[in-house]
Amino acid sequence: MKIYRIKNWLLCVSLLIVNSPFSLGDNYPKNPKIDVLNYIFQIELSDRSDEIKSEVTIDVRYLGEGVEMLRLDLVKARPELNNKGMIISQVTSEGKSLDYIHEKDELKIKLKQPSQRNQRSQYTILYSGIPATGLKIANNKYGDRTFFSDNWPDKGRNWLPIIDHPYDKAMCEFVITAPAHYQVVSNGLMVEETDLSDGNRITHWKQSVPIASWLYVLGAARFAVQQVDEFDNKSIETWVYYQDRDAGFYDFAVPTKRALEFYSENVGPFVYEKLANIQSNSVSGGMEAASAILYSENSVVGDRNERWRNVVIHEIAHQWFGNAVTEYDWDDVWLSEGFATYFTLLFIEHEYGRDAFLSGLASSKKSVDDFYQRILITELFMTTFPI
Ligand SMILES: [Zn+2]
Repeated sequence: MKIYRIKNWLLCVSLLIVNSPFSLGDNYPKNPKIDVLNYIFQIELSDRSDEIKSEVTIDVRYLGEGVEMLRLDLVKARPELNNKGMIISQVTSEGKSLDYIHEKDELKIKLKQPSQRNQRSQYTILYSGIPATGLKIANNKYGDRTFFSDNWPDKGRNWLPIIDHPYDKAMCEFVITAPAHYQVVSNGLMVEETDLSDGNRITHWKQSVPIASWLYVLGAARFAVQQVDEFDNKSIETWVYYQDRDAGFYDFAVPTKRALEFYSENVGPFVYEKLANIQSNSVSGGMEAASAILYSENSVVGDRNERWRNVVIHEIAHQWFGNAVTEYDWDDVWLSEGFATYFTLLFIEHEYGRDAFLSGLASSKKSVDDFYQRILITELFMTTFPI
């Protein structure tokens, strides 16, 4: 999650809970009879416009019989969004067109016949549009055009047709066609990188461990890429803007491996296929996307300062808490932050000593106290001057 500093975690989470629809309870329309197994996102990125052209294949297993409709989240283009959003041109399954309704942020696909228990089906959706949010297409701080995902918590639906809720984890593949001057990074392992004769490059990443939708990540930019090290036969990588090569390679060289070792020994195995630390312009702090963590473009300073070091540790702790173990309801998201924050402090104690641990705890407590005071003041104001 987007956190500047450990000490701000409770503040951020509390604001999230108080200011979001989640505070009213998680009323997402879950369907326990549907389990999405895999998404293949084939997406064309361009320098000519911000429009993306996509073909997405969804592999579904029905856990119960009688399902007549597959419901997905996908934001439809409309005037309120300045005509940003997605327009679907076709939905098919086994080569046959399916009827569908696409209204506002919801796509309902009518099945040819009600589902059977344990039925496996694939659906392909063709669509295009300019994302209103969720995929940031903009110049970075050096004026270079970049594409970076920003899915937290439910913005993935602005550019991807998905069950956009953590209760249904799925594997994912990103097959990106983009001008060849972009390098593309995503979850999992790179399985193909091919330069085409038309000046484009296809980059295919495959994530074979099921994850929540907000953790799907995409970055396309001109990067400097370093294979830093290995842990448990999995690569540790740094992806930074090429202008920040020296500073970024220096900053991200530590303490990723030490943190992976610590959590593997004390919590459980690291389940993902690599760990990339990625400089981006879509987040202001850190975003713990599984196996491909995004950091603010200002995170690269070249001095390995404590503030950003702690963000790195926090996002790595999330690989266990939030990513591997994930809330079924948004109401419980504070647990992911709480565990990630506490286990960040445990690593800090292990690595940098008891005083650093105690100071981190005190700092977190102060954040909670300050936030509580602010809530009290707000409530007093609202009681005195009701709207
Ligand atoms: Zn966090």
